[in-house]
Amino acid sequence: MKRVRETKHAGVDVALGSRILEGDRRALSRAITLIESTKQGDQKAAEALLTSLLPRTGKGIRIGISGAPGVGKSTFIETFGQHLSREGRAVAVLAIDPSSRRSGGSILGDKTRMEKLARDPNAFIRPSPAGSTPGGVARRTRESMLLAEAAGFDVVIVETVGIGQAETAVADMTDLFVVLVAPGGGDELQGIKRGIMELADLLLITKADGDLEIAAKRTQADYDAAIRLTRSKYEGLPANVMRVSSLRDLGVAEAWSAMKTLHAALKRDGTLPKLRQEQSRRWFWQEIRTVIGETVLSDKKLARYAARLEGAVATGEALPYAAARTLIAAMR
Ligand code: GDP
Repeated sequence: MKRVRETKHAGVDVALGSRILEGDRRALSRAITLIESTKQGDQKAAEALLTSLLPRTGKGIRIGISGAPGVGKSTFIETFGQHLSREGRAVAVLAIDPSSRRSGGSILGDKTRMEKLARDPNAFIRPSPAGSTPGGVARRTRESMLLAEAAGFDVVIVETVGIGQAETAVADMTDLFVVLVAPGGGDELQGIKRGIMELADLLLITKADGDLEIAAKRTQADYDAAIRLTRSKYEGLPANVMRVSSLRDLGVAEAWSAMKTLHAALKRDGTLPKLRQEQSRRWFWQEIRTVIGETVLSDKKLARYAARLEGAVATGEALPYAAARTLIAAMR
C-alpha cells in the first residue's frame, strides 16, 4: 500500500488535522503524543495543529471523575461508558495519574482497566503520563480534551485520583465534576475534603450492592446531610448524592440522566458558556506564570539572578514579592 504523504502547510500537519476531524483514533492518539512530547519541534507542531482545530472544539460534555484509589472509578467508567456507547455517543476517557511521577509506580494501575470499554469502537481511552509539574499535566489534559472534541467525541471524561492538586485542576477544566465515594462506617465524611465537596456537581456512593448496600445507604444519607451544610458550586443547587453499583449496573443510568439534566440546564441558562470562559481565563493566567518561569529559566543570566534571589528569600534576607518584582524588572 502506498504510504500517505503528509502535507505540511504553515507548520500545520494538514493531513493529521483532517484525519482527526474525521474521527480517526490513531490520528488522535498521535496528536496527543505530540502534545505530550518534550521536543520543541513536536510542541510547535502540536500548537499549530491545536490552533487550527480550535474552532472545531467545545461541543463535548466535559465530565471530571475523581475519587480515592479503590473507590471504583475504573469500574464505574467501564459501565458508564458502555451506557453512553449504547446511546450512540462517542466517549473519550483521559486518565490523569498524579502518582506515577514520585513513586515510579502508578495508582491508576498497570492492571488492565476498563477492558470492555477499551474494545468498544465508540470509546477512546488514554492515560496521561504524569509530568514534572501539575500545571504541565493540566495543560496536556486540557489540550487532549480539545483534540478529542475535534475528533467528534461528544462526551469527554477526565479521570483523576482524589489526591493533591490534580483534583482541583480537573474540576477547573470540566463542565461537571463527579466525586466518587466508597461506602463506609460513620466517620468517612473526613475522607473527602470540604473544598472538594464544594466543587462537586454530583456525589456517587459506589458499590451499593450485596453486603455493602446498607453501608452505602447510610453513607448517602450522611453526605446528603453534609452537602446541605456545604457551599454549593451553583447557588441554591446543592450537589446530587446518588448510589451506584457499577458491577451490577444499578443507578448508573440514573447518574447519567442527572448529569445530562444538569448539563442541559446549565447550557440553557447561560451558566455553562460563562463557566468555560472563566476556566479559559484562569488557564491563560496560569500559562502567563508558566511562560514567565520558562523565560527566566531559559536565559542563563536571568536564571542565575533568580537563583540568587531565591537564596536570599530562603534565608529571610528578602521578601518573595519584592524579589519577584526585582527579577521581573531585570527582564525588561
Ligand atoms: P479505582 O482504583 O477507583 O479505579 O477502583 P476500581 O474500579 O479498580 O475498583 C476497586 C475495587 O472495588 C475492585 O476490586 C472492584 O471490583 C470493586 N468495585 C468497583 N465497583 C464495585 C461495585 O459496584 N460493587 C462492588 N461490590 N465492588 C466494586
